[in-house]
Amino acid sequence: MRRIGLFGGTFDPPHVGHLVTAVNVRHSLNLDVVLLMVANVPWQKQGTRLITPAIDRLAMVDAAVSEVPGLLAGRHEIDLGGDSYTADTLATLAGDYPGAELYTIIGDDAAAGLETWSRHEEVVALSQLVVVDRPGVPVELPDAIDWIRVEVPRLEVSSTDLRARFSDGRPLNYLVTEPVLDVIDARSLYGVNQ
Ligand code: ATP
Ligand code: MG
Repeated sequence: MRRIGLFGGTFDPPHVGHLVTAVNVRHSLNLDVVLLMVANVPWQKQGTRLITPAIDRLAMVDAAVSEVPGLLAGRHEIDLGGDSYTADTLATLAGDYPGAELYTIIGDDAAAGLETWSRHEEVVALSQLVVVDRPGVPVELPDAIDWIRVEVPRLEVSSTDLRARFSDGRPLNYLVTEPVLDVIDARSLYGVNQ
């Protein structure tokens, strides 16, 4: 693998916004693979709400990408354990795939918070930062940061909204793929089957 996209997230749950982003960035930048990297402990979210166990989030992402060429679920952060830092994950990927070009893919909202990331300078140094559209105000990063924007269809879908849908019984169809819904059902996630 020469050109690798790292698309990190909590994926609680993974939804069409994530998948549409991943396949379109892969196509636009001619990437060999986009890794949907499941955060072990998303430390910026920890304590603000209940987070689904990492292993269940990985099962959902695995189900989401299983039929999609060029997308893979990443378990590096889960295997490493503890709080997850993109800088560490990039260093691991750089070691595993010497000479590969790394791309860190983030939505506008994540880009807006980039400077709150631990060691974001390392993220920018180790990879090409790729920012994708997400409904809301498009962020402009400081000139000092090397970043590019890739246009993807703007889908107003978030895991937060999907969790609210589960809790009050609104339909999830087409927002989450069927294989993901099957995992949610089989593992009784988000209060289903209770
Ligand atoms: P939550 O509402 O729980 O924060 P989320 O939908 O934002 O969930 P995350 O797992 O937080 O999903 O996001 C992972 C990455 O995917 C982030 O870089 C985020 O900006 C991006 N992303 C999430 N939803 C979309 C979307 N609809 N379109 C484009 N990018 C998205
Ligand atoms: Mg988010």
